[in-house]
Amino acid sequence: MDSRRNFLQAMGASFLALSIPKTGFGSIDDFYNKPYDGPVLRVAIMGLGGYGTRVAEAMRDCKMAKLVGLISGTPSKITAWQSKYDIPAGNCYNYENFDSIKDNPSIDAVYVITPNSLHHGQVIRLAKAGKHVICEKPMALNAKQGQEMIDACKKANVKLLVGYRMHFEPKTLEIVRMRKAGEMGNVMFFQGLSGFKIGDPTQWRLNKELAGGGSLMDIGIYAINGARYMVGEEPIWVTAQETKTNPEKFKEGVDETIQFQLGFPSGAVASCLSSYNISYLDRFFLSAEKGFADLQPSTGYGPIKGRTNKGELTQAHITHQTVQMEKMAAIILAGEAAPIPVDGEEGLKDLKIIDAIYLAVKSGKKISLKL
Ligand code: NDP
Repeated sequence: MDSRRNFLQAMGASFLALSIPKTGFGSIDDFYNKPYDGPVLRVAIMGLGGYGTRVAEAMRDCKMAKLVGLISGTPSKITAWQSKYDIPAGNCYNYENFDSIKDNPSIDAVYVITPNSLHHGQVIRLAKAGKHVICEKPMALNAKQGQEMIDACKKANVKLLVGYRMHFEPKTLEIVRMRKAGEMGNVMFFQGLSGFKIGDPTQWRLNKELAGGGSLMDIGIYAINGARYMVGEEPIWVTAQETKTNPEKFKEGVDETIQFQLGFPSGAVASCLSSYNISYLDRFFLSAEKGFADLQPSTGYGPIKGRTNKGELTQAHITHQTVQMEKMAAIILAGEAAPIPVDGEEGLKDLKIIDAIYLAVKSGKKISLKL
């Protein structure tokens, strides 16, 4: 069985439920064996860096999404990617001239995979150019920017999605299913640990101007977002504390380690840790009245591993970015719903929480939230 077949089988019923009505496929085998002649989302990637490379490779296995364009500040990367992915010269742009993508009918959407502080301006320019946008996390540096991006996309009548790949991950979705079905009873507690020991001190992730912050913007956002989809409620307050052991490496405005706590309307609480200086932090734990879920690793590229009170989670690993792009194509082309939202409003909620966490650190106070 080749990798595409494995991939499609692993995607399982929920994905097929999404694609069958549009494609006319009756079963997983049909879906694989029949040539796909439905609509395809033609995507350009902006920012040909580490994660852009991973997304491009994963898209090779997509049926409904195809890499057709490039936006980069590095001409040598454009040349190399053009030959690797068979991209015509007319679909290649740099950061100065990409507004003219509006005149290019062969590109439907742009996936923005650049440093955090660039997302806001780039997404607004792309919206003005009439292209759908998929934007990497964090969607922006703060809620104000996030709202402006949502408004620009609404005004231009284009879709704005955020690259929340875990929202399509099968073991994650099984826990969310169990919780929604009431199989665990009331959720009482969530723990989210997200962190790694960051290397090169000169990288953009440690530059406040490009990153907008530190570990919280980059990796802590997984615990923030995970707390929301695991608990299934929106937090109403946050408290937070920062620890900095290396002010040389983690300069003013670049957080090294932040602990934060979230309170939910039901009385459930979350206790989370975000760090650029602690290794092996990739764990979600959910405790409920009648059960529990434990994922470790919980948000890495996988395989995700975990168990619940019912036993080991056995859902097959799939390449996160492949299913993400397949599903995002269906959302953009056919208005399908994501199992956990991935729209701009979802990204904005996380930005409001990030704003509140930074404010809680600065003020030492409990900050109320209204999402
Ligand atoms: P990289 O540094 O590996 O790549 C970023 C790319 O952005 C560069 O290679 C460059 O591409 C382009 N770029 C444009 N302007 C600048 C600039 N001033 N400084 C540096 N690069 C610039 O970063 P990542 O790919 O790891 O991260 C990019 C985004 O993706 C971030 O927002 C990050 O949070 C997100 N991300 C998401 C992940 C996920 O799992 N969802 C995982 C990893 C990252 P070019 O030369 O083509 O212009």
